[in-house]
Amino acid sequence: MDLQFECSDCGKKYDPKTFVWRCECGGLLDLEAFKIEFPIENIQQRSATLWRYKEALPFDPEYNAWQSITMGEGFTPLIQFRAESPGVLLKLDYIMPTLSFKDRGAAVLIAKAQELGATKVAADSSGNAGTSIAAYANRAGMACDIYVPESTSAKKIKQISAHGAKVHTIPGSREDTAAAAKSAVEKGDVFYASHVYNPFFYQGTKTYAFEIWEQLGGNVPEVLVIPVGNGTLVLGAYYGCKELLSLGLINRMPRFLAVQAEGCAPLAHAFESEKEVAEPVVNTGTEAEGIAIADPPRSRQILAAIRDTNGVIVTAPEKSIQSARLELAKQGFFVEPTTAATYAGFIEYVNHCLSGKMSSKHEPLFKSNPFASDAEKVVIPLCGAGLKAD
Ligand SMILES: *Cc1c(COP(=O)(O)O)cnc(C)c1O
Ligand SMILES: [Zn+2]
Repeated sequence: MDLQFECSDCGKKYDPKTFVWRCECGGLLDLEAFKIEFPIENIQQRSATLWRYKEALPFDPEYNAWQSITMGEGFTPLIQFRAESPGVLLKLDYIMPTLSFKDRGAAVLIAKAQELGATKVAADSSGNAGTSIAAYANRAGMACDIYVPESTSAKKIKQISAHGAKVHTIPGSREDTAAAAKSAVEKGDVFYASHVYNPFFYQGTKTYAFEIWEQLGGNVPEVLVIPVGNGTLVLGAYYGCKELLSLGLINRMPRFLAVQAEGCAPLAHAFESEKEVAEPVVNTGTEAEGIAIADPPRSRQILAAIRDTNGVIVTAPEKSIQSARLELAKQGFFVEPTTAATYAGFIEYVNHCLSGKMSSKHEPLFKSNPFASDAEKVVIPLCGAGLKAD
């Protein structure tokens, strides 16, 4: 399948075989539209991994090299938070081969990189994406360099190097780390396996929406709660829902409730002030290292996607992240602080809706308590495992 990348600013097309990661105009690259199919009877007979949706993934029908790379990622459980609140569903995306949802994107991206002829990849990450890229790249027989901020949890760094990647710890901000990876990519014949810039990563994360649709018996919930830093799950879930809509499998989009951390919330600020692009912020410190992105490159697309679903972007209060982590653990779900922040942001927003003190600017996502026994469905992802955090 000879798919082209297309610049989101000037429309210029590029062949992914050139390993290009950005348009010469500086614009972000997207994948051009391609024909997808959703043969549901076949899908339901396949094994419970994201590859069951292969006709909706950007590969030739005969392509099967993914079979030597896959670790069975995807089709994670969708579970009630607790029996008394059947509308609040948790999608356990930390039950993945490398313990975070990033395996969705990395499996598809590395399979594609192999098809394009890559033998050496590099990526920058706050931890989980780098771990995931490292694991799949090693499985695909590729050399791999991962750049992480010096402040990344020691356990994540250990996990990345255990997968055979060379880890570069970079002083300074997350943005300094990205700059270090980019300059290495510019110097050599390296495939930039970036979860932020490479459009193929989002082709993997879109399966998040397909799975929920299947698990809810051919439906999507009223609300999808999603953490947002660089937006790989927000945009993936958005693309996935859009595809379900265009295939006629659903007749409305779920509304998105995107969650940032109070200490680093450029998208929430842009949303509130009705901007189309986020202004970079200074990270004032957050427990949610996985969403601490001060200057997200795809901010325009993220903001447009959230608005298109009639959704909102909120912040999780720093002071409630640890207690949210304990609350989830008491129900049996041990997650990393970034994931606890997603839940904390949801609770904060629900309380805000129910207090009646909402500004009238946005129609509230919850008019009644989502924990009530007869509430509409809301799906919250648990994206990263608790044992990843120091
Ligand atoms: C990467 C990650 C996020 C945020 O994803 P973005 O693509 O940056 O929006 C949230 N939670 C966990 C556990 C992550 O690893
Ligand atoms: Zn361009």
